This record gives sequence, C-alpha cells and structure tokens, in this order.
Amino acid sequence: MKKDDVLQLTIEDIGSDGEGIGHIDLSAGSYDEPQRRYTIFVKDAVIGDVVTVKIMKALQSFAYAKLVSIDKPSPDRVEPKCPIAAQCGGCQIQALDYNKQLEFKQKKVMNDLVRIGGFDESLISEITDPIIGMEDPYCYRNKEQVPVGTDKDGNPVTGFYASHTHSIVPMTSCAIGDPENDLILNTILDYMKAENVPSYDEKTGAGLLRHILIRSGVYSREVMICLVVNGDSLPSEEKLVELLRVLPFVTSISINTNKSRGNVILGRKLRVLWGEESIVDTLHIYKVEYEETAHFIPTGEAVNFRISPLSFYQVNPKQTEKLYSIVLEYCRLNGHETAWDLYCGIGTISLFLAKHAKEVYGVESVEDAVRDARNNARLNNIENVEFETGRAEDVLPAYVDRHKSEHRKHPVDVIVVDPPRKGLDDVTIGVMLAMAPPRIVYVSCDPATMSRDLKKLTAAQKDAAGNEFSYKLQRVQPVDQFGHTVHVETVVLMSRVENQP
Ligand code: SAH
Repeated sequence: MKKDDVLQLTIEDIGSDGEGIGHIDLSAGSYDEPQRRYTIFVKDAVIGDVVTVKIMKALQSFAYAKLVSIDKPSPDRVEPKCPIAAQCGGCQIQALDYNKQLEFKQKKVMNDLVRIGGFDESLISEITDPIIGMEDPYCYRNKEQVPVGTDKDGNPVTGFYASHTHSIVPMTSCAIGDPENDLILNTILDYMKAENVPSYDEKTGAGLLRHILIRSGVYSREVMICLVVNGDSLPSEEKLVELLRVLPFVTSISINTNKSRGNVILGRKLRVLWGEESIVDTLHIYKVEYEETAHFIPTGEAVNFRISPLSFYQVNPKQTEKLYSIVLEYCRLNGHETAWDLYCGIGTISLFLAKHAKEVYGVESVEDAVRDARNNARLNNIENVEFETGRAEDVLPAYVDRHKSEHRKHPVDVIVVDPPRKGLDDVTIGVMLAMAPPRIVYVSCDPATMSRDLKKLTAAQKDAAGNEFSYKLQRVQPVDQFGHTVHVETVVLMSRVENQP
C-alpha cells in the first residue's frame, strides 16, 4: 500500500474521531507469508458505506485515506440536519442514523470492557443494560462557546473551527444547540458592525471579541451571555446591553477578560454588565425501574444549581438527570450511609446522594467549583455534605492517614468517582481499595480509560487482617449524553465480595 493508491472498500466501524474504518486483506508476497489485514481510516464515511478512497498516508499496518466517492451509500446514512456537519469538528457522526449511533456506542463500551478491561465477554453481555438514548437527539446542549472571527470581506462572523484547524466556518445556528442562540449571535454581530468592534485574530493577537459563551437553563429558561474579550471592556457597552437584555429569557450579561495568546477560552476575570452573575437550573431525581431497559419514574424530588460562567456543568441536562438517577439507584442508599463523591465538580452528584444518605464528602480540585458546590448545598438546604478542595490522589490518602491514627475503621459505604477522560490516578485506586467500601460506582466519559481502571479495581486484594476480597462488576449502563458525537458516558456498579480461602 502506498500514497495515491485508489481502492474500493466497505466501512465496518467508527474510529475514535468519528472516521469510518475499513479493512482489506493484503495478499501474501510469498506462500509462507500469511495474509495481512490492513486497516484504512476514511473521514466522512459511515458504517455500511461502500466507498472509493485514495490513500494519503500509508504505514505498516494502517493508512489514512481520502473519500473519493460513495459508490453505495449505507442504508444507515441520513442527511445531517446541520449544513456544515462535515466541516465542523463538533458532531462527527451526524450522517449516521441515530439508532445506529446508539448501537455503535453500546458495542464500544462492551468491546472496551472485554479488550482493555480483560473481562469475560459473556459476563459483560449479561450485566450491560441497553444504552439510554435521547428522546430528541437535537437541540440538547445547554452551552455553546462560539468563536468570533472575520470573513474574507472583513465582516465579523461567529462560527465553529473546522476540525483540526483554526479557521472559522460561519454559523449562527447549531443543530445540537439552543435554537434561541441564533438571535443572540446575530444581535451581537449587528452590534459589532455598528460599533466597529474588531474580532480577535489568533494569529496576530490583535482585535477584541474572542468568544461568545451562551448557557441556558432547560427548566428555568434563564439565559447567560458571557462575552470573552481580549481586553477589559467593549466599546459602547450600554448599547450592547440595550440590545441583548430585551431578548427572550436573557438574565445575565457579562464580560470575561482573556488576554492570553493560548487556546484556553475563558480568562479568570469576570465583570457583570447587567443582571445576575450566574443562572439557576434544576435537575430532577427519578426512580429507576428496569424492565427490558431502564424506565425513569418522576419522584417530585429535584435539586437546584446555581451555575457561574467559569464552572463545569454537564451540557445535556435531560440525560444528566437520568445518569445521576442511575448513580443513585446503584448506590442503594437508605439514609444511613457515608458516601464519597470524587471529582464532584459543582456538587451535582453529591447533592443527589445527600438527599438519601447520612453524610456525603465531595472532593474536587477546582476551587471555584467547590465554592459553587457549597453554595448549591445551601441553596437546597442540604446540610449533610462537606466539600474538600484538592486532588483526589492527595485528599484521600490524607483522610485515610487521619483515620488510621484514630484507630477507627473507615466508615465508608460507597465511593462514587466521575473522573475526566484520563481516568483515575493509581494512588487514588490504591486508596479506594484500602478504604474497601461495600460498593464503588464509576461514572465515566471514556470507556477505554474506565476499562483500564476497572481491571485494576477488580484485582484480588487482601485486607489488613489478611482476608482476601475483590470487587466484582455488577451492572454496566451506557448513557448517550452527546448525540451525534462519538462520545459515550457509562455508569458501572462494583461490589466487594469476600473470597473464600
Ligand atoms: N461529577 C461532576 C463533575 C465531573 S467532571 C459532574 O457530573 O458535574 C470531572 C471533575 O473532576 C471536574 O470538575 C474537574 O475539575 C475535576 N478534577 C480533575 N482532576 C481532578 C483530581 N485529580 N482530583 C479531583 N478532582 C479533579
């Protein structure tokens, strides 16, 4: 195989960036050389397509190829709702039927558990429930961060970065975002033209307006607009406020200062131009009942969250409610337990747990998020929760040390972890195993690192008295939080089982 070779193949799988994957058998050069399965990655091709491709870069066992033609479109190919889906890096698999997307994600979780986690395939198919898909996989995001640039005629534009580049594809209406954002973005573009506000230019570092962050509460309908500026102010701010505050649901308008040259979107400094600094939203707690699939039964219970522009908050609230309700179900709390919530963010899972446990400890490394978490506990009159600022791998060992010197058994009934994509640190895993709670619930946004960690968490252990135990996987529940992207969220329940000598 070499560059510029043209060949036909069938797409069989989806890669980690949403690209299509096909294989060919390289014929043996001599009779004692076995045939080799050669992998080819093709952007913009979906599972089931028969395509002609041109090899761009060929390596020993795989190649990257460019799509030349779709010779027989996959029966699962659909017309993407978004006209720039192929250029924008956001939704990688919008051209694949939504039910097929779910099938792909279900398989991905199960394959990773078997291949990376080393778990038995029949166990995994027995304990993995069907993925929880979205009722409507469009308009689900509660947050958009839209870059501002300049088109070739010198006019300001908002849009999205074309995948793997820093050039902006103009866009004011995102198919997975809030349809109301279109009006907000166009209003800001009108203001920029009227007041000659220059867009920021990444290459030169000149210009003013860099990004527009819009966040909305699905239930509260409150809308926050935060303008990220390469400076401390914008021209005619009062005019901007006049134009924006009359738009539907707008409750917060602020300026964030980011004068750095890097890729980080938000700076540290925030100034409110009008209204509140933060918005409020609600997450409902459901009772989960399993038949063939999970069913979510309203309980009337809810938690309110105040979200400031700088804090992490889940982007798909309707699916988040389901995700957290499953976490709660897996924790099996009856009001007497001590629970830990590691990587707790603004305390979302912690507060769900606190309503059903005796006490909850949240650990989070970002100080602002911990401040939000404490405020959110107060907002909901929840008193049985404490938050500690620090990295899980530092906070947990210190906690265990303190309790060792008091000669107390670690009174932990359940540990919930929800780490970022890179997964758990080995120190954290070691301390979790030393704490040895009856249940561990792992929430993950990356099935590969999760499977790696689960392998370590389920290895055979010995406690201080020499008794052998290990964690056993009990349930696996994939959840689609990010329709049209390749990402998938998973919740796993493990419980401690004493091994007979
Ligand atoms: N459970 C929360 C947040 C999950 S995102 C929610 O559902 O909203 C992961 C969180 O882990 C982020 O808030 C991030 O700031 C935090 N984090 C990252 N590394 C960490 C570490 N080493 N120790 C503790 N928290 C960490």
